[in-house]
Amino acid sequence: TEEIINRQDKLAAIGQLAAGVAHEIRNPLTSMKGYAEFLTLDEKDEARREYLDIILDEIERVDSIVEDFMVLAKPKPELMEVKNIVPVMKNVLSLLEFEAKKQKININFEYREALMKVVIDENRMKQVLLNFIKNAVEAMPNGGTINVSAFLEDQQVHLSIADTGVGIPEEKLKKIGEPFFTTKETGNGLGLMISFKIIDSHNGKVYVESELNKGTTFHILLPHHSD
Ligand code: ADP
Ligand code: MG
Repeated sequence: TEEIINRQDKLAAIGQLAAGVAHEIRNPLTSMKGYAEFLTLDEKDEARREYLDIILDEIERVDSIVEDFMVLAKPKPELMEVKNIVPVMKNVLSLLEFEAKKQKININFEYREALMKVVIDENRMKQVLLNFIKNAVEAMPNGGTINVSAFLEDQQVHLSIADTGVGIPEEKLKKIGEPFFTTKETGNGLGLMISFKIIDSHNGKVYVESELNKGTTFHILLPHHSD
């Protein structure tokens, strides 16, 4: 339909733009970050330190947007390898643990099998997990719990990320994953679209369950690699 074609055009245009511009933005951003970090080193004035922290946070934000756009420009996985998903997940969770704790969020990880092989582009898959967990964190402004699980069933590795957050109203569920669909003031509405694309390129599936004011669970199914 017309809507789909328009969306494809829009994405193609963004992809081209991203390919040309992302690197150009990243380099000056890296030097800005370096100098801002350098200035914080011997800054004794508390207010100025705070301003520098704000600058660094904002640089981080621009950087993460640029990163999202870079994935749009190159949506195909590049390095497919046989990996055990368990340490990959542990690694992502350890990255987020500290930030989550600060926001009164507990992250639990349960896995039924210690070895579950999948064929993945590890960095892309980490990005997917990060996107889902970041969304879970953002859905719980007053704290809560994120239960992450992994198990093997019917030749599929099942991953799930469940939060105890605000949930997604039914009329918004079908908009999930559309480019630029966001309900957040500072959101860009790209995270899920990119994640769905990456999962798809791994021959995986994703679905969501949500109950308003109870929480949301994203399920990811990846083909199990057996040798
Ligand atoms: P962004 O996080 O920038 O808004 P995403 O593509 O990651 O973009 O998510 C799109 C929208 O989907 C979010 O703005 C939010 O409304 C909804 N959403 C995604 N994950 C969750 C979740 N775990 N709980 C509640 N809403 C969610
Ligand atoms: Mg997001």
